[in-house]
Amino acid sequence: MKSYPFLDLKIVNSPLEEELIQVTSEVIRSGRYISGYYVSKLEQELATFSESRHAIAVSNGLDALRLIFRAYIKLGVLQPNDEIIAPANTYVATILSITDNGLKPIFVEPDIKTLNLDTTKIEAAITHRTRGILTVHLYGTTCWDSNIIEIAKKHNLLVVEDNAQAIGAKSITAGINGTHTTGALGDAGALSFYPTKNLGALGDAGAVITNNTELYNAIDALRNYGSDYRYHNIYQGLNCRMDEIQAAILSVKLKYLKAENERRNTLANIYNQYITNPLVGKPQITENGTQVWHQYVIRVDERENFIEYLKENGVQTDILYPTPPHLQPCYSHYKNLKLPITVALSNQILSLPISSLTSNEDAIEISQIINNHR
Ligand SMILES: *Cc1c(COP(=O)(O)O)cnc(C)c1O
Repeated sequence: MKSYPFLDLKIVNSPLEEELIQVTSEVIRSGRYISGYYVSKLEQELATFSESRHAIAVSNGLDALRLIFRAYIKLGVLQPNDEIIAPANTYVATILSITDNGLKPIFVEPDIKTLNLDTTKIEAAITHRTRGILTVHLYGTTCWDSNIIEIAKKHNLLVVEDNAQAIGAKSITAGINGTHTTGALGDAGALSFYPTKNLGALGDAGAVITNNTELYNAIDALRNYGSDYRYHNIYQGLNCRMDEIQAAILSVKLKYLKAENERRNTLANIYNQYITNPLVGKPQITENGTQVWHQYVIRVDERENFIEYLKENGVQTDILYPTPPHLQPCYSHYKNLKLPITVALSNQILSLPISSLTSNEDAIEISQIINNHR
């Protein structure tokens, strides 16, 4: 029987192996492994790509988010216990970046159609302590609209983007600085280059995107022990730098990101066209911009049976994420929050294969397998 793997990173990266080996050799021979040529080069490329003034290469996506909030605290823009509005259905790292800085997450339910934070519910969640919105472009779908812009303006809120899953996506509604690229829509954005992401390193890496030079300077120092120049420390900082090797690898892979995102879009369109089983809720093709389909997520009741059926027919799937942050043991003080849409979704969602291991024909066959399920 034919099998349809969910993901296999060695196959994803194998077409680029020679180029990656070559650039890795260059780093080895350079003798400079931290804060050198390749990190600067990647930062310039990411800033250009994001239509933003600054990009700061850092250790991973969680650190990118943590550094944004830490910098706002150091600059006196945020204070401990300030409230940050965030989607309740997200990866735990989104919420960790808030609580790690002594800030308070306010969970807002998703829109069942977009699977993103329901922006019409933000205003009701605002209190006199609310200072920011952390919008997450979940699964590669932009979460950005005029509601966010107007509420942020009206209540003087920062807008930070968790763009770990949507690098290269575009929003129809312009960002606050006039650009349309995710990560650069708000005051600051975080990218993740975790190996499974649309632009994946061969290890951990991330970046911050911002137009704000003051914020840039603070994060630039904070990622490097709080040092503004050599052996001079203005903050009690961290070590959250990106390695030269990862930067060199990402510079190579960035050239192929557009093609990668287009390939995912083709597969998503095939799934959307060919899946006709009424038991399956398909993801919406957004009217708010372009999607980069980090995940193709369907909704099914009786998910366990469905997974078992797909497995019997060779189709591997995954669940992102089976448990929302407020129900994690580490956040037990939030477990009684009433977030019924988030909880219901976490029991229905299922990711179908959409990596470079999946061909267009595979997507049609997977759709037919899904349609044959009763
Ligand atoms: C992957 C991810 C992160 C964290 O990125 P890391 O590089 O793994 O630290 C944060 N938020 C979301 C939505 C993610 O998908």
